[in-house]
Amino acid sequence: MTDIDIQNGRPDSFAVGRRIRERRVAQGLTVKDLAARIGRAPSQISLIENGRRELKLSELQSIAAVLATTADNLMNGELSNRRATLEIALDRAQRGAVFSSLNIPPLSIRKSLSDEAIATILTLHDEIERLHQERAATPEIARRANTALRKDQRNRNNYFPHLEAIASSLLKTVDHRGGPLSQRSASDLARHLGFSLHYVGDFPRSTRSITDYRHGRIYLPAHLRGSDPRSALLQALALHVLELKEPKDYEELLRQRVETNYLAAALLIPEGSAVEFLHNAKANRELSVEDLRDAFAVPYETAAHRFTNLATHHLDIPVHFLKVHDSGVISKAYENDNVVFPTDALGSVEGQIVCRWWAARQVFSIEDQLTPYHQFSDKPVGTYWCTSSIQTTPTGVFSVSVGTTYSESRWFRGRDTKKRFKSTCPDERCCRRPSDELMQRWDGSARPSAHLNSSLLAAIPTGTFTGVDRVGVYDFLETHSPALPL
Ligand SMILES: [Zn+2]
Repeated sequence: MTDIDIQNGRPDSFAVGRRIRERRVAQGLTVKDLAARIGRAPSQISLIENGRRELKLSELQSIAAVLATTADNLMNGELSNRRATLEIALDRAQRGAVFSSLNIPPLSIRKSLSDEAIATILTLHDEIERLHQERAATPEIARRANTALRKDQRNRNNYFPHLEAIASSLLKTVDHRGGPLSQRSASDLARHLGFSLHYVGDFPRSTRSITDYRHGRIYLPAHLRGSDPRSALLQALALHVLELKEPKDYEELLRQRVETNYLAAALLIPEGSAVEFLHNAKANRELSVEDLRDAFAVPYETAAHRFTNLATHHLDIPVHFLKVHDSGVISKAYENDNVVFPTDALGSVEGQIVCRWWAARQVFSIEDQLTPYHQFSDKPVGTYWCTSSIQTTPTGVFSVSVGTTYSESRWFRGRDTKKRFKSTCPDERCCRRPSDELMQRWDGSARPSAHLNSSLLAAIPTGTFTGVDRVGVYDFLETHSPALPL
């Protein structure tokens, strides 16, 4: 570990000073002796040892020479003295975020402060920090972060040029010539980036993939071997290529997820060939998410989501995207066509119930689930056209919908649908309040028992916002790492 000052990125003067003092005492030198040997006043040495004066590298080197050590050792070396270790930790804590948020005047670190007092302050400090982190891991913080992120995506029309550029240069390295990315090209890409692939059975459940940088290995669950491992693999590669560190809060976690999903999708559905494909479809008034899915051999949701990346930027079509659980609860949403999603008081869309007259709900009542479903919906803000498809996933059954305004529906296959519904949500009388007749007949004479949504309470494990089981992951790595000298 190196002593870099977290706030301004320079070496930690206090820790360096304490190391100098420890080495000086160990050499049997007084402050005066050291001062004389480097040609400085003794008062300067005191300032240095108390971390009040920053050293130039040349000064550090001359002090190191006198103390029979190296500049590197003075910057990064271990301390044998418990007191010095405590003092350095206290100094760092006082310069950190917890102390500054509490507005406590700095406590000067002098001899009269006992080791026990310092240790107690540090324990309290660490506990406050832990509580802060735990609080930051609440669903409310997650929702706020998510709302801010969606706003940002909307401002960019959900199009990220720098990620498109990275995807395009990665595809060049494996000599990809357009069209869908084969599984083979995806593994070539992993190899090119220095990773071997390992499919294993005993995979920790909280993870999709594990990358072992030390041995250049990517582990994927064995059940993916027979199916399509591209998406999990490309997301692992995206984390690596984008050099994304372990997220420190929800906002960062969600942002990383947006970027890795985006990059993975941009590799699966490369911009160049996809845009050509979509331009042709638009010219023929045959735009269709199914066709995009089939042309690039990806799941429907990937195609629908990727369509939102390219539709506005390249085709000049505003769009919305919804992923809705069969209970009606929204799990993902995006729009830049001014369709109004239901929100809670904080502006959060996820977790809200979508109007039962929207395509995202109506599609569940259709028996033929292979034929694409389309409908027009008259909403208070205007008429929209929407196409929806049902996806069965390990976490439930969802509808995935892509929609646009009435006038832009003219570019899409399915614009001739006769299905049309009227939605007046958020007006309660639209679909949330039973009719007066039903109210009269049933109100007070029935009591439903709620099906408690367990994920509501268990969505975010306490104290960790990624939900990754670190013990499980490290045990896993210990078991699977090759027996090489590390
Ligand atoms: Zn409604």
